[in-house]
Amino acid sequence: WLGAAFLLFCALAVYFSYRMAAKAMVPIFASYEQQRKFTADASHELRTPLSVLLSSIDTLEMEESVEQNPFAAKVVHNMKEEIRRMIQLSGSLLTLARSDSGHSELHLDEHHLETEAARTVESIRPLAVAKGIELHYDLADAFVIRCDAERIRQLFIILLDNAVKYTPPGGHVSLTLEWIYEKPYGVLIKVSDTGIGIPAEDQPYVFDRFYRVDKSRTRQVEGYGLGLSIARWITEAHQGSIQVYSSPGQGSTFIVRLPV
Ligand code: ADP
Repeated sequence: WLGAAFLLFCALAVYFSYRMAAKAMVPIFASYEQQRKFTADASHELRTPLSVLLSSIDTLEMEESVEQNPFAAKVVHNMKEEIRRMIQLSGSLLTLARSDSGHSELHLDEHHLETEAARTVESIRPLAVAKGIELHYDLADAFVIRCDAERIRQLFIILLDNAVKYTPPGGHVSLTLEWIYEKPYGVLIKVSDTGIGIPAEDQPYVFDRFYRVDKSRTRQVEGYGLGLSIARWITEAHQGSIQVYSSPGQGSTFIVRLPV
C-alpha cells in the first residue's frame, strides 16, 4: 500500500506540475506571437506613408524657393535622409518578423553568384570612392548555385556596406568567392576590410538583433544593429553558415559558406 500510495503521489505531482507549467507558458507564447505579428504589421503599415512622404519631399526639393534657399535645402535634405533611414529600419524589422514566422519563403533558382556579387560591388563603389576606400573583387570563376538571388544580393550589400562603414579613409575592402572542395561542398564568400575591427568579446554577439559594438565607437556610424542578424538569417535559410574573424585596429573578415 505504501508503494502504491507513493506511486500515486508521484503521478499526481507530475500531472499538476505539467498543468502549472503549461498554464504559465501559454501566455508567453501568445504574447511572443502577438509581438511578432505587431512588429510585422507595424513595419508593413509604416512603409507606405513613409514612401509617400519621401516622394513628396523629392518634389519639394525641386521647388525653386527651396533650391535657392540654402537653409531650406539643408532641412529638406536632412528630412529625406531620416525618412530613408526609417524606411530601411521598417524593411529590416519586416524581414526579421517574417523570418520568425517562417512566412518568408525563398525563391530558389540557379544563379551566378559572381554576377550578383559584381553588381553589388558596383552599387557600393560610389560609397567607397566617396570615402577614399579601395574596393577589390576577385570573381574569376563561374559560381552557379541554387539560391534566392534577391536575398543573396541583400547579404552582399550588408557585408560590403558594413566593411565600407567601419573602415577609415585610405583603407581596403575586398570580396572573393572560392569553391569549397571538401565536404560539405559549396561556395565560400569572403568579405575583408582593413577597418576598425571588432573586439574578441563582442564577436559572438554581432549577429544578435540590435547589437552594436561599443556605442561610443560607432555613434557617428549610421545603423541599428540589424544588418548582421538579417545576414545570418539569409545564410541559414540557404543551409549555410556565417563567421567573423577580426582584430581591433587591423580589420575584419566575414566568411559565409553556402552549400551547393
Ligand atoms: P549596424 O547597422 O550597426 O552596422 P550590423 O548588425 O550590420 O548593424 O552590425 C552589428 C555591429 O557589428 C555594428 O554596429 C558594428 O559595431 C559591428 N560590425 C559589423 N561589421 C563590421 C566591420 N566590417 N568592421 C567592424 N565592425 C563591424
